[in-house]
Amino acid sequence: MKNNTPILTDSHKRDHAYLRISLIERCNLRCTYCMPEAGVQLSPRSHLMTYEEIYSIAKTFVEHGVTKIRLTGGEPLIRKDIPIILEKLASLPVALSITSNAVIIDRFIDTLKLHGVNSINVSLDSLDREKFKEITRRDEFEKVYRNILLLVSEGFKVKVNAVLIKGFNENEIIDFIHLTKNLPVCIRFIEFMPFDGNKWDMQKMVSYKEVMDIVNASFSEKEIERLEDAPNDTSKNYKIKGYKGSFAIISSVTNPFCDSCNRLRLTANGQLKNCLFSASESDLLTTLRAGKSIEPIIQKAVAAKFKVRGGMDTLEKLQEPKLHSQNRSMITIGG
Ligand code: SAM
Ligand code: SF4
Repeated sequence: MKNNTPILTDSHKRDHAYLRISLIERCNLRCTYCMPEAGVQLSPRSHLMTYEEIYSIAKTFVEHGVTKIRLTGGEPLIRKDIPIILEKLASLPVALSITSNAVIIDRFIDTLKLHGVNSINVSLDSLDREKFKEITRRDEFEKVYRNILLLVSEGFKVKVNAVLIKGFNENEIIDFIHLTKNLPVCIRFIEFMPFDGNKWDMQKMVSYKEVMDIVNASFSEKEIERLEDAPNDTSKNYKIKGYKGSFAIISSVTNPFCDSCNRLRLTANGQLKNCLFSASESDLLTTLRAGKSIEPIIQKAVAAKFKVRGGMDTLEKLQEPKLHSQNRSMITIGG
């Protein structure tokens, strides 16, 4: 079926061909911008989707036009049945990819290859071991860095996600870009976004413009090449001429890309979120378990999608703490 069948088309005429599935609410890191200090209330195990349920829900989306599925979490690789999940989803006609913190990804190289996962996003917010420890509350820098090099040498297409926080890591922007001189990865600088419990404050965010000011102060206009962004891409892509890799900026706060949004999100406990910032959710899992069709719920949820950032269409609304706490913590959405 084509991706413009009605149930995945919203009232703003956006077709949704991309489904992000969170497999787990737990993680082996504790990034301060993602996981609240006090942790999160975990869903009881019986409320989490089994691999059969993940497959069944994903299949419905694929039948209605989804062509791309990204697995996320929490940390998707700490879910015990990840090999079966990959195997089942790889049997669907979709491009399958994963977002991971890469702490244990070296154990999954063959499994990922076997199931055709060749695009991997890895989170790394600092190139300094102590700062990595501070932001993730775990001492795993070396493993993550080594695993990024391993993924590249094994032929995976790697994007490195770095959330920028003012006074913490914007002084590493140029170091990250220098890394792309010999390493064919794309470093993606992400504007820090507000979610429940992450103590977000506009002043802590490093904007797209500020990143480019820093880049422009270190490289000449001639050296900086603006690359063409892929359709529905959330990032603005650049490279330094002659470098093997590239860099990009994801500006969800200062320059949202909602007009071309084609994403839907399924949480580990089977709730459909029509937007990263949506306060409301639609329960697919209960309906699936009752043996009923989930299609009417999907259709209603997609149709109700707000035009911009879950209804937070101004920077003023985005700065309203009450509105963040109506959403989940990022660790239980999946990015
Ligand atoms: N554990 C995996 C990882 O870290 O890549 C997957 C889940 S994580 C929630 C997915 C992405 O969300 C990561 O790239 C992370 O940096 C990003 N993220 C988490 N909290 C964020 C925030 N407050 N603002 C911007 N990006 C955030
Ligand atoms: Fe875990 Fe990823 Fe969140 Fe960090 S960003 S706490 S690695 S889920």
